[in-house]
Amino acid sequence: MKKKGFIITLASPSGGGKSSILCSVLGLLPQAKYSISYTTRQIRGTEQDGIDYFFISEQEFLKKKEEGFFLEYAHVHNYWYGTAKDYVLNTLDQGNHVIMDIDVQGVAQVKELGYDVVSIFVLPPDFETLKQRLFDRKTDSNEQIEQRLINSKKEIDQLIAYDYLVINNSLDKAIECVVNIILAEENRVIRYIDPIKTFYK
Ligand code: 5GP
Repeated sequence: MKKKGFIITLASPSGGGKSSILCSVLGLLPQAKYSISYTTRQIRGTEQDGIDYFFISEQEFLKKKEEGFFLEYAHVHNYWYGTAKDYVLNTLDQGNHVIMDIDVQGVAQVKELGYDVVSIFVLPPDFETLKQRLFDRKTDSNEQIEQRLINSKKEIDQLIAYDYLVINNSLDKAIECVVNIILAEENRVIRYIDPIKTFYK
């Protein structure tokens, strides 16, 4: 039976373990495609242009924004971030899911546009663990970490707006949990295209 694809947003404060979860979930679910965002921030650590993000200048970003290139966009940690509209629409048209790693503002925008969205929030077990993970990854200055923690508090305040909360205590369990959420959501009756007609044909 044919099913409709949907959007999965995976949000978490920086250091929440979202990137590792994402990477495994994409490997386990071939029907889920990752939407590579555009950003004006600098490349960090081992990141690669066109894989982690499309890194573009502020001027290019603002031009694309004016042209309606983005499905949603937000100003986060002093930089612009946005999702390419065409990529999302084409992927959904093919019956696949789109996974987006976007912030709270982005999730709200995509929901307001009326898309079929399953929103997942990933949190470490407690605030101390989050802080420790940010320091341990050694990619940001202390000032940047402080800024990220301030933003994290604002994001966590929005938790109630999400459909699912996954606590990332053990990475394997968190991955399993996200996969299970997606598989269960795929089987909701609303996601089937004409199930009764297809059954009797
Ligand atoms: P980072 O700089 O740590 O990669 O990401 C910072 C924040 O920007 C994260 O909360 C991430 O989810 C968010 N973000 C990344 N790409 C997008 C996007 O395309 N749209 C929105 N709204 N947020 C994004």
